[in-house]
Amino acid sequence: MFSIHDFILTENTSLMANNSASLRIHPIPAFQDNYIWVIDNGQHALVVDPGTAEGVVQYLTQHHLILTTILITHHHNDHTGGIDALTEYYNPVVYGPLKEEIAGVTHGLVPGDVIDINDLGLHFAVLDFSGHTLGHIGYSAPTMLFCGDTLFSAGCGRIFEGTPERMFKALNSIKTLPLNTRIYCTHEYTQNNIEFALAVEPHNIALQQYAKRVNLLRQKHLPTLPTNLELELSVNPFLRTDQATLMEALASQYPKAIQDALSLFTFLRAWKNVFPHPPSLGH
Ligand SMILES: [Zn+2]
Repeated sequence: MFSIHDFILTENTSLMANNSASLRIHPIPAFQDNYIWVIDNGQHALVVDPGTAEGVVQYLTQHHLILTTILITHHHNDHTGGIDALTEYYNPVVYGPLKEEIAGVTHGLVPGDVIDINDLGLHFAVLDFSGHTLGHIGYSAPTMLFCGDTLFSAGCGRIFEGTPERMFKALNSIKTLPLNTRIYCTHEYTQNNIEFALAVEPHNIALQQYAKRVNLLRQKHLPTLPTNLELELSVNPFLRTDQATLMEALASQYPKAIQDALSLFTFLRAWKNVFPHPPSLGH
């Protein structure tokens, strides 16, 4: 169904150090707009943030895959609701943030940990993405990032438990990854995010072009994900708070609210919360 967005990563990529097979990374749509990402080598599989087991079991069965590993980024139910059923079927290792109480997690992780998924030849670094929730973590391997609800294409997650500072720090840490990093976000929010991004930066040509591409994909009901870091740096206002043109345009209109990159980020996040209404000021 989503074949043009299945990415076959070959031996040529640095991912495949210990594995001669190629990896497929596939989005399983769930609920309204979630994606559950599955990585497999034709035999073994890993799933990220299974909010439900339904489509996952179907996919694994259809492709004759054995689920060995689950990665969880944070405690919200639309990312964890399938753990129980999948554990019953497959008894996988379930990694998740140590800081959050999540039933079914077998291995608690803290930022700085490294995990080896031997059957897929993958090694993930665990990143501190607290902000959306307090214990939120991300999983990065060369050329891939599973970021949960921290970054979306052309947008970012809501700050439910953390502070703007934490979310800003998490997003800035993503900016230090290689430009060709593919980013596997967990929600199809791209079109809506682009509307906001265009309100922030109406003259951003890369963004205008991206909007057209995304509209075509969505007309065909295709995912807009994964995205990549190079693209996000050119279209995502939450990664562009260091851009002088963006800063100058908004700081001149809202000088009280915006003095530096963090206050610009905080302003944008607050504005997005009420969009399409104009930013509510006085704070
Ligand atoms: Zn969430």
